[in-house]
Amino acid sequence: MILAFVETAHGTLKKTALEVVQFASGLGEVTALALGSIPDTELAKLGQAGATKVLHIADEALNGMYSRAYTKAICAAAGQVHADVIVMSHSSTGKSVAPRVSVRMQCPLFAGVGALPENGSMRKTVFSGKAFADLAYQGGKAVISINPNSITPVLSDKAATVEPLACSFDDRDFDYTIKQTIDESGGHIPLPEAEIVVSGGRGMKGPENWGPIEELAQLLGAATACSRPVADVGWRPHHEHVGQTGITIKPNLYIAIGISGAIQHLAGVNQSKVIVVINKDPEAPFFKAADYGIVGDAFDVLPKLIEAAKKLKQSA
Ligand code: FAD
Repeated sequence: MILAFVETAHGTLKKTALEVVQFASGLGEVTALALGSIPDTELAKLGQAGATKVLHIADEALNGMYSRAYTKAICAAAGQVHADVIVMSHSSTGKSVAPRVSVRMQCPLFAGVGALPENGSMRKTVFSGKAFADLAYQGGKAVISINPNSITPVLSDKAATVEPLACSFDDRDFDYTIKQTIDESGGHIPLPEAEIVVSGGRGMKGPENWGPIEELAQLLGAATACSRPVADVGWRPHHEHVGQTGITIKPNLYIAIGISGAIQHLAGVNQSKVIVVINKDPEAPFFKAADYGIVGDAFDVLPKLIEAAKKLKQSA
């Protein structure tokens, strides 16, 4: 049995939930585990990606992310269904919880893989996406965390059955107290989950010029991102900073506007499936990593892109 630990937010499944279940279904029969407040009707949707059953620990205390409590819950569910393999997302939650679970379950951790095991190994990128590591896996007990956006779920119309699971916690499982929660993404698409990202750099000259970036992002259903100096000087919030010292993303489409393409920036975005670069300097290093490049002034190119996106939307 495979246990797929799925993440939720504000009573709905995160996009990674379906990816995790779909990946797990490639390994065997899947039971999913969800924590916190979320309606059973929402959880039943996990059947579309291949889960036959969903275990739900509906304890409100689990609406916040507590790695000790989550570890206890995941291990309890794994014991309940005799799971050999536990799959979760390589999200900030997964990065915090997966190592704890692998220690508790006394089994290896395959962190940040991008595809199902093949020929006795699992592949992940290393050195900021510059090389692959093939990790030997001959089956058996394992914890696997998968990179967001590496799987495209193929959905059926099946529904999973949802069963409550009891799990008792004590004060030590909740190692800090959440006094206030702030939804920093303000209803926008969370950056690590976004399929399209529109990103701006110092070439945008100042925070007052971000309107067109936000407009383009909104038209394309994209998240916004930025280079590090842009976040450092406070033009954009830090949670938008991508790169070696920021978030690593892997969208289907990354549009970089007024960003030079320094190696530290590329480290966080070079696994994007398609990269479009807009820069007025034809020698900008980013063009070497781009699938499509526009040599031009962002302030001329952006309005044209917005017009084109509007037309595309109207005709769709
Ligand atoms: P710039 O390098 O100033 O480039 C601006 C670009 O905009 C230029 O290419 C210019 O031609 C173009 N431009 C200017 N005007 C226009 C216009 N009107 N239209 C179109 N194009 C225009 N950086 C990150 O982004 N992420 C990281 O995680 C990160 N980590 C780092 C870690 C370390 C240890 C170090 C030393 C650096 C790190 N950096 C990181 C910084 C990185 O080295 C670069 O300095 C940074 O990415 C440059 O940001 P930028 O491209 O926005 O600015």
